[in-house]
Amino acid sequence: MSRVALVTGGSRGIGRAVCMEMAGRGCRVAVNFARRSDAAAEVVQAIRGAGGEAVAIGADVSDADQVNRMFEEAKQTLGPVEILVNNAGITRDGLLARMSPEQFDEVLAVNLRSAFLCTKAALRSMLRARWGRVICISSVAGVSGNPGQANYAASKAGLIGFAKSVAREVGSRGITVNVVAPGFIATDLTAPLGAKAAEATASGAALGRVGDPAEVANVVGFLGSEAASYVTGQVWQVDGGLAL
Ligand code: NDP
Repeated sequence: MSRVALVTGGSRGIGRAVCMEMAGRGCRVAVNFARRSDAAAEVVQAIRGAGGEAVAIGADVSDADQVNRMFEEAKQTLGPVEILVNNAGITRDGLLARMSPEQFDEVLAVNLRSAFLCTKAALRSMLRARWGRVICISSVAGVSGNPGQANYAASKAGLIGFAKSVAREVGSRGITVNVVAPGFIATDLTAPLGAKAAEATASGAALGRVGDPAEVANVVGFLGSEAASYVTGQVWQVDGGLAL
């Protein structure tokens, strides 16, 4: 069945891979972006080139008005959103002693407040349809913590509590809410950390390497599918055995 999927931060990295995965599964895809309209347009072209349907929708997902407008635009162009992937995320790393309130608030707004705003907007039509899939992209940092990432880890741990609570609220309506917690994945987000950080992480992972965005997208695709109908409130670590 052709479902409508909306992927926040779908223009690059893991979000881009999730958009391609969802399109490959026959979904019509809303590709959200914040600033990189060029990257989002490229994802839309790639999906259309493969015979799929997609639109790019710009919106800062930490802003309530922009989120509501984004869902309205998705509904007008593709139909009501049935699969929501809360993927958009940022880092503003630093040791706590030097972390500013602005660095803390910005990360919480983009990584966690966004999930609240988008999930609330998506649930309106999902509750009516008595079917829905919500997948939040957390991080192993939200499970185990990470020095220099108190703000980021708090936002990612927050997503886990958020997802488990909403899973309990909406389960009886055929809606599942799950979390995927990736380890070190090669994207623009991790590129500035450099080869040394990638090597250090790889050596700590059971699989001995960093991950590829498609390896996260595969799991998200499954959780968004009919096949995952009896899975909810779970945290799926896709980290190559980093946090065992
Ligand atoms: P990237 O930096 O490669 O991409 C981030 C995406 O988020 C972009 O599409 C960007 O849009 C979008 N975005 C950023 N801010 C906003 C905003 N305010 N509103 C809407 N969209 C926004 O990141 P990754 O692909 O690496 O990460 C994706 C998710 O996975 C994040 O939540 C991250 O925390 C999580 N994650 C990543 C890991 C990794 O190792 N890479 C590990 C664990 C978790 P634009 O292109 O317009 O800038």
